[in-house]
Amino acid sequence: MSGLRSTRSAANSRVTLLTTETKPDVKPDVDANGFTSLRRATRSTTRPEPEASSAKSTVDLSKYSYAEPARKRVKREVKEEDEPLVEVKDEPVSPARKRKEKAAYLPAREKAHPEPPKWREQYALIERMRAGIDAPVDTMGCERPRTMRDLDDKTLRFHILISLMLSSQTKDAVTSQAVMNLHESIVGGLTAATLATAPESTVADAINKVGFWRRKTEYIQAAARALVARPDGDVPQTIEELCQLKGVGPKMGFLALQAAWNINAGIGVDVHVHRITNRLKWHKPPTKTPEDTRVNLESWLPPELHRPINPLLVGFGQVICLPVGPRCDICLLGQQKLCPSRVTVNAANRKEIAYRFTADRDVKREIEETKPKVEIAYEEEEEEKLRPAVDEVDRVDKLEGEATVDAISVKIEP
Ligand code: SF4
Repeated sequence: MSGLRSTRSAANSRVTLLTTETKPDVKPDVDANGFTSLRRATRSTTRPEPEASSAKSTVDLSKYSYAEPARKRVKREVKEEDEPLVEVKDEPVSPARKRKEKAAYLPAREKAHPEPPKWREQYALIERMRAGIDAPVDTMGCERPRTMRDLDDKTLRFHILISLMLSSQTKDAVTSQAVMNLHESIVGGLTAATLATAPESTVADAINKVGFWRRKTEYIQAAARALVARPDGDVPQTIEELCQLKGVGPKMGFLALQAAWNINAGIGVDVHVHRITNRLKWHKPPTKTPEDTRVNLESWLPPELHRPINPLLVGFGQVICLPVGPRCDICLLGQQKLCPSRVTVNAANRKEIAYRFTADRDVKREIEETKPKVEIAYEEEEEEKLRPAVDEVDRVDKLEGEATVDAISVKIEP
């Protein structure tokens, strides 16, 4: 039987040669499933010239030509309303970036948040508890770096800033040690100028126990370079300038202003202040970010408490109102049913806490006792003569709350 035989050209691998040959009748092997084992020449795209279909043993290559398979061209009209061929999606925002965006400095509220009804009793009880516990923030807080002895004011301010920058997501003791490490390992001690030019590896080795130490290595060196570039080379004195430093947010900025410059520009709201004020239901609705908490608190909390509220609640949160498993069993707010978030605690399974406060004093009476008092002595029938005294009471009412007024006594002469 004669037929076409395909062979690959040695000169061009893309050319398949077709030759006629006579073969005995061979039936293809067909297996039980009906499949044949013969190969199919599916890749050939060459076509022989009509006269080449004769049986020859010598092949004339010139008689074969390579033809590209014909492609069908389709015209597509592009209309203006067509969707773009490549859909451009917004870049996914990582949770860390979202947190950073939320940490942007918010302006003050236009309308003040209402004062929580029992905040004075709650605040007074926390003060009493804080006086009776020793919290890590009292000895190793960022305001008191262990390196502070023998430092000039400008260098101390820089140590406070670096201490605050290292403190996020890190225990106070670890932060304190990291600042000490920096001061001891950088040649010339820790200053803006020495940190700005210190080898990155030296800085990283000194702080590698704090949370996110790689990022913080970059941030504190960038902050040091930014301070060196300032005319005074000092820590800035405004929240706006502080927030421009890489890695510094409003919380750190306000705390730095208070601790470094003694400027009370706002409340430093960290996770403890944010958590505890929400557990006490001071925010309606509950706040989602520390910045929302700050603007709420600043709208109604007396300004003289803007600075002390941070160490007060941080220490309280470190020892009693813990993030997980708060010690409501020893908390005076829980015992006096002044906390809407109190929970039942099985003290037998919990770590023992050393504290020196009791609930035997009436906090409401305590608050009343600290208010200014007015004593008025008069005869009932001499009502007319009371006018000056009533005016004086009005005046005292206005003064109420001012720390300078302790007691005023008004006597009406007959
Ligand atoms: S009662 Fe519990 S939740 Fe409430 S403030 Fe005290 S420790 Fe925190």
